[in-house]
Amino acid sequence: MLNIKVLNIEYQFNGIKETIHPVIIFSGEEIILIDCGYPDFLSIIEREIQKNGVDCNAISKIVITHQDHDHMGSLADFIGKYPKIRVIAGNYETPYITGDKKSLRLKQAEEFQKTLPVDQKEFGEQFCEILRNVRPCNVDIKVNDGDFIDINEECEVIETPGHTPGHISLYLRKIKTIITGDSAVLENNKLVIANPQFTLDLKQAEDSLEKILSYDVNTFICYHGGVYKSQS
Ligand SMILES: [Zn+2]
Repeated sequence: MLNIKVLNIEYQFNGIKETIHPVIIFSGEEIILIDCGYPDFLSIIEREIQKNGVDCNAISKIVITHQDHDHMGSLADFIGKYPKIRVIAGNYETPYITGDKKSLRLKQAEEFQKTLPVDQKEFGEQFCEILRNVRPCNVDIKVNDGDFIDINEECEVIETPGHTPGHISLYLRKIKTIITGDSAVLENNKLVIANPQFTLDLKQAEDSLEKILSYDVNTFICYHGGVYKSQS
């Protein structure tokens, strides 16, 4: 049996209330968490998982859709506390998660920093510092397009590059659902690419959005924006 739970993780950023949506997939015996929040989010995500009746000790895998700090920020803390959890990420994205390659987001932020006017440099530097402090983590299973993340083969990997080069989304055929990560965000009840300013390859990101929209699904779960149900 395949089932999912969408988490609502609320927090304040610059005084504005924001929400992110990690997802829990229940596939047979497996409990799989998709993305795990900013650095220092371990306890609030644990609380939210428990609220949904799930024991964190029962989580078997965490899938990281891509290297950004709002998706993998708490990964090292999760694995430190629950070492049995296996980490899954896209083949191409993996070296940025393990720290073998420098975070592309940090590279981008450092480049951007040079162009910032003086009054914004401090804010820019703080952002760079947050990215530098993201702790890398080992990846146990590297996946490619068409691979399955679960033993029952109910959750298929879709490579959706653009936002980052090795970004992945997940296709749950049985329940006609795609978990988008940041390949699509929900804004004003529309699926769009994530903030173009943070998109490393715009053309690829547009193509990836088109790719996931072409699937026979009726539900998209966006990390930013939540659940979108299509009319058809
Ligand atoms: Zn994000």
